[in-house]
Amino acid sequence: MAHYYLWTIGCQMNRADSERLAAYLDGMGYKPAASPEAADLVLLNSCVVRQSAEDRVTHQLDCLKAVKEANPKVAIGLTGCLVDSNAAELKQRFPHVDVFFGPQALGNLEEWLSTRGALPEREAPVLAVRFPTAFVPVIQGCDSFCTYCIVPFRRGREKSRPIADIACEVRELVRRGVKEVTLLGQKVDAYGHDLPEKPDLADLLTELNGIDGLVRLRFLTSHPNHMSGRIIEAVASLDKACEHINLPVQAGDDEVLKAMRRGYRVGDYRKLIDRIRSVIPGVALTTDVIVGFPGESDEQFRHTLDLVKEIRFDAVHVAAYSRRPGTWATRHLKDAVRSPIKRDRKRLVEAAQAEIAQGINTRLVGQAVEVLVEGKEKGRWQGRTRTDKLVFFSDPVDRAGQLAQVKIDRAGPWWLEGLAQR
Ligand code: SAM
Ligand code: SF4
Repeated sequence: MAHYYLWTIGCQMNRADSERLAAYLDGMGYKPAASPEAADLVLLNSCVVRQSAEDRVTHQLDCLKAVKEANPKVAIGLTGCLVDSNAAELKQRFPHVDVFFGPQALGNLEEWLSTRGALPEREAPVLAVRFPTAFVPVIQGCDSFCTYCIVPFRRGREKSRPIADIACEVRELVRRGVKEVTLLGQKVDAYGHDLPEKPDLADLLTELNGIDGLVRLRFLTSHPNHMSGRIIEAVASLDKACEHINLPVQAGDDEVLKAMRRGYRVGDYRKLIDRIRSVIPGVALTTDVIVGFPGESDEQFRHTLDLVKEIRFDAVHVAAYSRRPGTWATRHLKDAVRSPIKRDRKRLVEAAQAEIAQGINTRLVGQAVEVLVEGKEKGRWQGRTRTDKLVFFSDPVDRAGQLAQVKIDRAGPWWLEGLAQR
């Protein structure tokens, strides 16, 4: 029996790709291994959005040299955003890696395995199932070219999947026990513009909302320029669409937004937030922020911090700007912010957000929330609310995969804790 070991880093898109890869290998008769040493096939799914992620990938690759030396028969594969058209260069850097395939090129792995006589006799269904939740990519790539971002260079142009295709996959996932589906895209709210009939995310959500057995629908990540009134209305009116929108602002200063080439101003973003809050009662809003973009002054950073405090997001993912080779910012903007300043700015946003999130979550104490239970962690059940808040609770009854009503009795900035209601 052949075994595979799959290591993943990066965003939900990478996790979704890994789930597909695992489902594909399971279908071929491979079994998961507990460590690279115990595997016949080791696959690394890489991320290069920030230097820190890339460093972790190269460290893992270096560690695999010893594995290959101890067992020359082990096959090593590299996928994800480190791989584009640079396989020859990568082969020079990592000669112990046997196969390189890009995030959209599972076929290359398949071809390589077939040359080793390891292909399945019948086609394996490539379906990702992470009971009771699943990720479903609906639009690949990105056409935006924000000046700091490497994603469009590695994931290519935007390409949406037809609604019928997605609905078919979601029906199959539900048949296998999935209750919550998260639709994925770098700009998921731009879904459909490249398809012949130009459907939008609202059409897709409406179609999926009609699938019996599906309980919740989510989508990630939205871009402020594409968050239309139709999408906001759809989230408000469709019973399965969860009241949570991740809407990265990236900066709270117009000059910085312009240099990032985000295509909106702070005022536009504020208006959008007001509109979302007025149409979707109880909506949770989360965002991404980059601090220390080249040339960001103390005052410009203050504007970002002030915006975070003003909007009071449910969560903020803060990243220190990381120079990515080939991007416009790396080629043209030389005025780097020093690392200690970036670190301080990151800490300031995180500290402000921790206080805000604690305040928002504390208001839930004493209330009952609906939790979709994903599993058990250290003896306690763990799941998420419709607003994507992490909840822990104890219950001797098996709750896996169920919806539970939980009365919250404690709250932290990143979690809630409570008792299941009967
Ligand atoms: N498409 C989404 C958007 O428009 O915001 C996000 C996709 S990106 C892969 C995920 C997050 O990584 C971004 O929101 C941004 O905050 C962060 N990111 C991307 N490039 C970065 C860079 N060069 N340095 C630091 N953070 C970066
Ligand atoms: Fe990167 Fe901007 Fe595209 Fe998001 S919208 S993936 S930040 S280029």
